[in-house]
Order: sequence, then structure tokens, then C-alpha cells
Amino acid sequence: MIQKKKTKAKSLKWYRDKAWELVSKYVRLREADEYGYNRCVTCGTKKPHQELHAGHFVPQAQGNAARWDLRNIHPQCFRCNINLGGNGAEYGPYIRDRYGDKGYESIRKLAGITRVMRRADYEEIIDDMATRLARIALNPGEREESESTRWALEHCS
Ligand SMILES: [Zn+2]
Repeated sequence: MIQKKKTKAKSLKWYRDKAWELVSKYVRLREADEYGYNRCVTCGTKKPHQELHAGHFVPQAQGNAARWDLRNIHPQCFRCNINLGGNGAEYGPYIRDRYGDKGYESIRKLAGITRVMRRADYEEIIDDMATRLARIALNPGEREESESTRWALEHCS
């Protein structure tokens, strides 16, 4: 009897971690300058993207809809993201300014939305981010439009 070689399937956590690694990198490089520097959206501090965080406006503890919506994630410095707990006093006005009143309301509503993430959802994010990062690598400094993930566009508009 021939035994089939078993390839070890990657866990859901592996896909989640990989998706977040790429989303975080994309968020910090999106709109960075050609040297890879970007600004904290809540205090304006300019830093190399490697030293910035990808900070959520609606906390990711509020669930997967908030956790993965690109409109909800922007570059922040350590102080604003960690020490100031997201610096909501400045983050709110930034979100409203960038996405308008309607966008602001729909982003705030992410907090109440349940989103089940399956392997295919993470794979879609991983592919999307890889494409976007490749585009940024070809055109450093070019402003990327902050589109949301397709899921968010379908569910939260
Ligand atoms: Zn900051």
C-alpha cells in the first residue's frame, strides 16, 4: 500500500498572522515618501515606516470587521497607538476629514458588525496586499487611494 505523503496544512492562525503582517506593512508604506518615511496620522511625527505602527481607529478588540477594514487602519507612532490608546481625540477628526461624515459613520459602525474570517478571506487579503505592495515598490512615494477591502465595500456602505 502506498502511503500518501501528508503535507502539513497551515493553520488559520498562520493565515491570519500573514494577512496582518502584509496589511500592517501596506498601511505603513501607503503614502510614505520615496525613502519609506511616513507620518503618524494623529500627531504628525515623521518616522521610517519600520518604526511606525498600523493603528486602528475602532479598536481591533471590537471584532474582525474593524480589524481588517483598511479605512480603519493608518500609520501611528508608538506613543499615539500604545501610550495614548489610539489617540481617539485626534483620530476621530482625521477619519472624518479623510472619509467624510458618511465614511466616518460607517467606520464607527464596524464596531457592531460580526465578520467570520475563513482561510479564503485571509487568502484574499494576502493576495490583495501582495499586489498593492508590489505596486508601491514600483512607484515609491505615489499616493495610493485608500480603498477598503472588498468585503467592507459590500457590507458596510
Ligand atoms: Zn503620533
